[in-house]
Amino acid sequence: MTGWDEWLDTSLARLTSDNQRRELRAVTPTSAVRAVIDGRSVVLFSSNDYLGLSAHPEVRSAAAEAANGVGGGPRGSPLICGYTAAHQALEEDVAELKGCEAGLLFSTGYGANLGVMTALAGPGTVVFSDELNHASIVDGCRLARLSGAEVEVYPHRDAEALEELMRASRAQRHLIVTDAVFSMDGDLAPLPDLVEVRERYGALLVVDEAHGSLVFGEDGGGLAQHFGVGEQIDVHVGTLSKAAGALGGFVATSARVRDWLLNRARTYIYSTAPSLPVVEAARAGIRIARRDPGLRRRLWDRVAQFGALVDAEPSSPIVPIVLGDERRALEASRHLLEQDLHVVAVRPPTVPPGTSRLRIALSAAHTQEDIEALATALRPYLL
Ligand code: PMP
Repeated sequence: MTGWDEWLDTSLARLTSDNQRRELRAVTPTSAVRAVIDGRSVVLFSSNDYLGLSAHPEVRSAAAEAANGVGGGPRGSPLICGYTAAHQALEEDVAELKGCEAGLLFSTGYGANLGVMTALAGPGTVVFSDELNHASIVDGCRLARLSGAEVEVYPHRDAEALEELMRASRAQRHLIVTDAVFSMDGDLAPLPDLVEVRERYGALLVVDEAHGSLVFGEDGGGLAQHFGVGEQIDVHVGTLSKAAGALGGFVATSARVRDWLLNRARTYIYSTAPSLPVVEAARAGIRIARRDPGLRRRLWDRVAQFGALVDAEPSSPIVPIVLGDERRALEASRHLLEQDLHVVAVRPPTVPPGTSRLRIALSAAHTQEDIEALATALRPYLL
């Protein structure tokens, strides 16, 4: 341990003085968007449960029935003994949701992105990645680079700049990767433009719909469905941890790509398969979200209501209020918590320096009164 205590103390002290130190706090849920923190009841504007499904009775009983039946299920990675008929059924559900031939489940969305990037990008490949892509894509790109892929980061949402970079490339294979809904800004990838570039250059297009699935599209197929370009996307990545109200990641794609991933994606091969209660909860979440467009309508009503109150036009249920430095964002978050509203302060390195912000996540489970209370409490920060 020589030298470690001093290094940790100094490094943590630096985080504290930079207002970048994170702390864990127990948030005990009482419903989809309500919780108790330090003994006080709060409304969560920080949860990714966009449709309120984590607390839906059908999701709860699906998980409970599975748990009562067999517990967690076989404990092994999918290629050993962790893959069951329920996993297969959920794969079929996600494939159908995305209009694809096949699906594959990962333990997390993070693992899905890491697995996709490392399995598909190696020597002979250039990856083109939006500069504001999620950390799991960034990490996937870093690993892919170590195994011989080239990585080009293109300016945020700039399909023209992407095309220029691609035109200059002499690589054998091109892979474009983007978030559908950007997780810290809530803005949308220009999927129709990216699809055009994909077609002109024969690139493989990977879209992470972590925040788009079940939120956008007629039956919740995602932003690709909303734009009518689902069929031109080669690999749809998603998570079951947000609007589906459960946990886990997935890929929806062709049978051929699925086959390659289950043979080569290390986060798939070397990680235990999701447990059965989680799989059944996710199946129920997707089922409810697809059959009940009223939930999505309610979510978008809340987004519109909030936009009207704060004079903004949010493109998604994620609404950032950029405040600049870390201290301001932390103070604002504390001030809101005093009013029983939980909104996280997002700081570097999650967002670029000087863009610390409140990140608001809206849900169909919020009431109109919740939204009004938030808008009123935010007034001092909207100048
Ligand atoms: N992609 C994006 C865009 C995300 O926001 C997240 C979650 N923060 C993930 C992937 C990772 O998903 P999971 O939480 O299921 O690991």
